[in-house]
Amino acid sequence: MMSVANGVAAASAKEPMFSFGVIADVQYADIPDGRSFLGVPRYYRHSISVLQRAVNRWNKHGNIKFSINFGDIIDGYCPKDKSLSAVQKVLDEFNVFDGPTYHMFGNHCLYNLPRSKLVSLLKMPTHSDRAYYDFSPCPEFRIVVLDAYDFSCLGWPHDHPVTAAATKLLDEKNPNTDKNSPDGLVGVDRRFVKFNGAVGEEQLSWLNDVLQDASTLHQNVIICSHLPMDPGASSPAALMWNYDEVMAIVHRYNCVKACFAGHDHKGGHSVDSHGVHHRTLEAALECPPGTSAFGHVEVYPDRLLLVGSDRMANTEIHF
Ligand SMILES: [Zn+2]
Repeated sequence: MMSVANGVAAASAKEPMFSFGVIADVQYADIPDGRSFLGVPRYYRHSISVLQRAVNRWNKHGNIKFSINFGDIIDGYCPKDKSLSAVQKVLDEFNVFDGPTYHMFGNHCLYNLPRSKLVSLLKMPTHSDRAYYDFSPCPEFRIVVLDAYDFSCLGWPHDHPVTAAATKLLDEKNPNTDKNSPDGLVGVDRRFVKFNGAVGEEQLSWLNDVLQDASTLHQNVIICSHLPMDPGASSPAALMWNYDEVMAIVHRYNCVKACFAGHDHKGGHSVDSHGVHHRTLEAALECPPGTSAFGHVEVYPDRLLLVGSDRMANTEIHF
């Protein structure tokens, strides 16, 4: 008999409208284990086993419509002549999944390959080399995938105007020689580091249009972004540079129910001042051998249930 001690199991008596798989920060590289700058162990080779277990579980489940990969598909330490084959190796694992996978850029993807190359490699459903898009898995729901590095020092050619403008912003906000260091920055100002980025003006206006359209259609919206957008769900140093601008747009409407993110490996969950849930997902990269961090989200008309594996916490989001 199924245990009802777990709230998630008890609440999911009714069938979901659809479910989707989630995994964040695989950061695969064929290199020995290492540590983050804070000393947290990183298992660069094991992370692909976490992905394999995720895909296996999603396939066994039998009713996972698609999966979302929250970025940082390979690690910045991946030798650059191996970047392409490392991305391909991870994509081969995603291809074992019986449904499509939607990808987004993480900083580590952009340390390895230029944006234009990644957009086609990751088969993003966009017409140009834009790396943001939306889709509607059922008439009642819309998924929005943001490009959190649209305005950043990463991925654009060195002589590109965005590189110059983003570098200028960082120079103003971060006095450190090493722009990846938040030393001396206080509170949410710690987000002004080179490994973060922002949603650019065109994308902001696109987001506004999408949310307006979703509101008209009475759709609920789930936003997915590599970078977290609420200080309650993330370390300040992992936040999107202009999370406040994005959230100001989100808060104009009532359609966004949840924002999922990666990047801040330890994970987090908060509910903001407007009742929007923010869930930062635990990283696959930091799972010691034999353990996992992935999950699937069951979508109901009035709630989302994130059903996590051992290191990914279950989360109930009611709306
Ligand atoms: Zn990242």
